Amino acid sequence: MSSDGARPRLVLATHNKGKLRELRELLRGQVPGLDVDTQVIDASAAGAPDVAETGVTFAENSLLKARAVAEATGLVAIADDSGLAVDVLGGAPGIFSARWAGRHGDDAANLQLLLAQLADVPDEHRGAAFVCAAALASPASDSVPANEVVQYGQLEGTLLREPRGDGGFGYDPILQPKGMDRSCAELSAEEKNAISHRGQAFRALLPAIVEALK
Ligand code: IMP
Repeated sequence: MSSDGARPRLVLATHNKGKLRELRELLRGQVPGLDVDTQVIDASAAGAPDVAETGVTFAENSLLKARAVAEATGLVAIADDSGLAVDVLGGAPGIFSARWAGRHGDDAANLQLLLAQLADVPDEHRGAAFVCAAALASPASDSVPANEVVQYGQLEGTLLREPRGDGGFGYDPILQPKGMDRSCAELSAEEKNAISHRGQAFRALLPAIVEALK
């Protein structure tokens, strides 16, 4: 492989190796000349800074992250922001999904608090969706201005009354996708990726990624 072949070209603004793996599989064979295993890297490999999520929407937060990482690295950057939107809570926990119970990333506490809040809500009103915004930001150069694109994905379903399944993370054990009889935590990784909000948003972003890497 030439040294140019290994030069990073696309940064995913996350430290989550699972997300990087998912994105590489999505991009494999889709972008002419892109070696996904060496040229698509995450924020740690790029030495990119952590970015505070100070936006009030998924789109704002994904753009904040993509923009900051593109500026810091000079590479095309993509980022996502996601969460659970519950109908009877007017879209909450939303952007607060990761810290609904107070402490960032305490999945078990977040899920238990939500179940307790919804204890009296009847089955017909337990609609919810995982929502994702995926953003692309390309740095400005002498000849080309900076470019930004945001796309969305949504996985609709119903909230169960008890957690089910050992797979996945976050609220997966209590969201049963529409038309299925299993929770997200009872799906294989392939099944979940095929329908997930993140998969949809990144697939929608694919044309912008191809264009930005031309
Ligand atoms: P992030 O955008 O990856 O930081 O996700 C924010 C939070 O939303 C996570 O901590 C989870 O609580 C929730 N979340 C996002 N996507 C999923 C999913 O696919 N399954 C379960 N929970 C999710």
